[in-house]
Amino acid sequence: MTAQTIDGRAVAARVREDVARDVAELIASTGQPPGLATILVGDDPASAIYVNNKRKACAEVGIADHHRQLSAEATAEDVAGAVEQANNDPRVSGILLQLPLPPGLDGPAFTARIDPEKDVDGLTPISAGRLALGSPGLRPCTPQGIIELLDSYDVELEGAEAVIVGRSQLVGKPVAALMLERNATVTICHSRTRDLAAVCARADVLVAAVGVPRLVGADHVRQGSVVIDVGMNRTDEGLCGDVDFEAVSDRARLITPVPGGVGPMTIAMLLRNTVLAAGMQAGQGRGKAALTS
Ligand code: NAP
Repeated sequence: MTAQTIDGRAVAARVREDVARDVAELIASTGQPPGLATILVGDDPASAIYVNNKRKACAEVGIADHHRQLSAEATAEDVAGAVEQANNDPRVSGILLQLPLPPGLDGPAFTARIDPEKDVDGLTPISAGRLALGSPGLRPCTPQGIIELLDSYDVELEGAEAVIVGRSQLVGKPVAALMLERNATVTICHSRTRDLAAVCARADVLVAAVGVPRLVGADHVRQGSVVIDVGMNRTDEGLCGDVDFEAVSDRARLITPVPGGVGPMTIAMLLRNTVLAAGMQAGQGRGKAALTS
């Protein structure tokens, strides 16, 4: 079997089109565009590129840009102040604090100060708690993007064996929670898992979110399964995933490439979360309904 490649760029483009339409509707009904406040502290080049890409994507769908740049010498009070200002600004529907922060500043502690109704990254303790409890809330972007990809390719999660490799707050745990919400039977693996290949080989849907280049090989993959590669590893040969794409393509039914799989979905879901947050703040049913589904 040669796996079909899941086209994350195409799915992300569809999501962006939907978001652009929702933005236009929101402007028509409220007179105000949704707004995203990106907060970048310091001059880390990779973080600057990530933030620029997000701002550019916002502009393309009509989301207003409320960027705040703080210097590398910013104090804890400066960062807390920027978050507070965005929390209190009615033009700001969503807030994204780009991590990591410069040394000496505790990123998660500042993330926790973001108003949960504006937490478009879905990473505050309140958003994580809402997800764990199955209550409405903004969900983390990459995990939501994975679910969107699976839905786009009609992958049935109900009753499926889902195995997630990785238990980070950013990807592994939330994607496991989202799949459980969809009634999959979920197993989470990590660095202490015994016989990783044997556990992975049970999966109908296998998600690798590890950060180890090509950790998942053909012996980890059941014939006819669906493989989602979240990994973004920079190696001497360029960007590669956590999955050995060539070897696994001979066994899987569907597989995401790196790049062009999960990556494009993360920003698309950030845009969608920003519009959902704006709708919710405007008291509109659409935002509320989407958050409870
Ligand atoms: P992370 O916080 O470093 O977590 C990695 C997880 O993998 C941990 O739970 C760790 O287990 C587990 N692990 C490490 N080595 C392992 C091994 N040999 N066998 C089994 N499990 C192992 O990473 P992350 O933030 O979740 O990111 C994972 C990857 O996804 C990275 O390459 C990252 O760049 C990428 N990523 C991509 C996107 C995107 O938009 N495409 C978004 C986020 C992340 P322990 O908990 O036991 O240490």
